[in-house]
Amino acid sequence: MFNIILFGPPGSGKGTQSERLISKYGFKHLSTGDLLRSEIAKQTPLGIEAKNFMDKGHLVPDEVVIGMISSALDNHPDAKGFLFDGFPRTEAQSQALDKLLKLKNTQIGVVLALDVTEEELVKRLLNRGLTSGRSDDTNEEIIRNRIVEYHKKTSAVADYYKQFDKVVYVKGEGSVDEIFDALCSEIDQRLS
Ligand code: ADP
Repeated sequence: MFNIILFGPPGSGKGTQSERLISKYGFKHLSTGDLLRSEIAKQTPLGIEAKNFMDKGHLVPDEVVIGMISSALDNHPDAKGFLFDGFPRTEAQSQALDKLLKLKNTQIGVVLALDVTEEELVKRLLNRGLTSGRSDDTNEEIIRNRIVEYHKKTSAVADYYKQFDKVVYVKGEGSVDEIFDALCSEIDQRLS
């Protein structure tokens, strides 16, 4: 089993690249953003709680997303590998993920970190907001809050995995194909 974290700030292209990576390698895609939006659509208690945080551009509490990921892992016992997208987003989430994977006798193979400048991120997110139907993409202040949360809490995830020498940076600007090829080359080196 080979598990990947696709890491990077909001708007760095994790969703786009995840779709391609799962269809090429057959990973099970676990996106906490998608899981949370599905809870919101179903109006579950978890979704209603999460929405308050997401609408402000703040992170949802660790215990909520960790519980969600734990169930998702249990629901896919036959997966040949997981691609984590938008998770972990704090050091506590990283530690919890490592423990959950250890219980399943597996671990993170590599953290692929997409590198994109801040101005490009804001531009992409505002652009995505025109069509995505995501309210957190239409307001520049909420977008900036998400980037602040990223610097305050989420960049620690890269530091955490650097201790284990698992982080590889990939340039997240250029064409979707170029970025995809760069990601595949890192994965292939580790799979062979
Ligand atoms: P983006 O990467 O563009 O911010 P996501 O879909 O990954 O989009 O996340 C949308 C929102 O969902 C985040 O701003 C945050 O409020 C919440 N969220 C998603 N994943 C997590 C997580 N692992 N921990 C806490 N909050 C999360």
